[in-house]
Amino acid sequence: MASTALLSGCAALGSDPGAQGAPGQGGHGGHGGPVDPQARLAAEHARLVAAARHWNLDEVPLRPPAPPARKPKITARDGFEVDGQEEENLPPVFTTVPTRQKVVFLTIDDGAEKDPAFLRMMSDLKIPYTAFLSNYLVKDDYGYFRRMQSEGHTLNNHTLTHPYLPGLSYEEQKDEICGMQAVMKRRFGKAPTVFRPPYGNYNGDTLRAAKSCGIKYAPIWDEEVFVDHWEYREDDKNLHPGDIVLTHFRGREDWDGTMVDDMRRFLNKVTREGYAVARLEDYL
Ligand SMILES: [Zn+2]
Repeated sequence: MASTALLSGCAALGSDPGAQGAPGQGGHGGHGGPVDPQARLAAEHARLVAAARHWNLDEVPLRPPAPPARKPKITARDGFEVDGQEEENLPPVFTTVPTRQKVVFLTIDDGAEKDPAFLRMMSDLKIPYTAFLSNYLVKDDYGYFRRMQSEGHTLNNHTLTHPYLPGLSYEEQKDEICGMQAVMKRRFGKAPTVFRPPYGNYNGDTLRAAKSCGIKYAPIWDEEVFVDHWEYREDDKNLHPGDIVLTHFRGREDWDGTMVDDMRRFLNKVTREGYAVARLEDYL
């Protein structure tokens, strides 16, 4: 691991708001760890370095900046609006969050693969992500996704059965989207406000149906990462500040590697290019 990478990790750690607690009270009231802020920073940094090494990353992932004090105004991407988008205040479909910060957002879809090592890796490295769940794939193990939720990751709606929504009537689309809202309320205690249409395909009825059951945002993605390559929506084939990156809960049955391999590819690239991974919900 390159020493410059370690230094950049240290610099990023310096902006951690959690490190600015009561100064000069070292030695009392801790839970076993160092209480002095500098010592705590150093300990956390050492922990992250060890975690990056353990998961075989090239560099320590960068820490994201503090969430924006004022949330950016999210509108539908040009060309991704439907008739009535503004007049009916329909959930916007977008691929990038407007921000100048060098952050990207990790979103993970469907829910087929339930790899415990993936949960450990993201927890060790403190990488935020948002999961879009389709009920037919997650219903055999809601507990796996509850563990995610308990670590602060947001679970969002990706329909009951993952259909091609534009091929369905309004009522059928409503059953798929609002039906999943009900499942999520029952299984995870909360109906989400964020929904992603399967395959990124939707029409006006999709957004109307989604709005009718409480959906406010319909993010899709600007890049997709696979275990062995990346795919880009834009011709420049680059990451941009605020880009939403898609990957899937997949394992060796679906592609040549594990979730951990997939996340290693993702993290190595975003870190190498100077991006941190931030929480999508902090910007919505
Ligand atoms: Zn999907």
